[in-house]
Amino acid sequence: MHFNVSQLLNESSGSSRRFEVSERIARGVTTEKLALQGVVILLRTDRGIWVSGDLESNPSCDCSRCLREFDEKIEISVEEEFFPTIDPMVLTFGYETQIVEGKFWIGNDHILDLDKLVMESLEMNIPMKPMCKVDCSGLCPMCGVDLNHFKCECENEPRDARWGALLGKHYSPKVNVS
Ligand SMILES: [Zn+2]
Ligand SMILES: [Zn+2]
Repeated sequence: MHFNVSQLLNESSGSSRRFEVSERIARGVTTEKLALQGVVILLRTDRGIWVSGDLESNPSCDCSRCLREFDEKIEISVEEEFFPTIDPMVLTFGYETQIVEGKFWIGNDHILDLDKLVMESLEMNIPMKPMCKVDCSGLCPMCGVDLNHFKCECENEPRDARWGALLGKHYSPKVNVS
């Protein structure tokens, strides 16, 4: 998700651009690409460009209960200020720009690259244990059928471990040592 901001950088603070985006960006080092759509607003600040984005993606996930593949719906909001490495204004006044680690920079080509920010935010919002639906019944632990679609004859009543302990105590033979 790349934006050429050379024009915006030459405008006074308060100027903005609004983009409706719909594109695919690479997911990390894999070849998988995630489709993203939403709105990105770029606002010129006195130091750089403030990015506000509301985006949505539908990465495919495997349900942690029934293992079925499904499209998870993920909505993210990103808010971040990007700084120009070469600021036309700064150059005009002959200031030196300082590069500070951990900030987001606009390249010398005036391209503001949102991919890293967006992907970080997406990865944080993809659930560790995705579920195809909130009440997914999952697979039968005994025979493995998908309980969302089939019924099986297995006994899947969860046993209360406390009963076992109690019964064990009750029925253990008493040994009297005298
Ligand atoms: Zn499921
Ligand atoms: Zn079963």
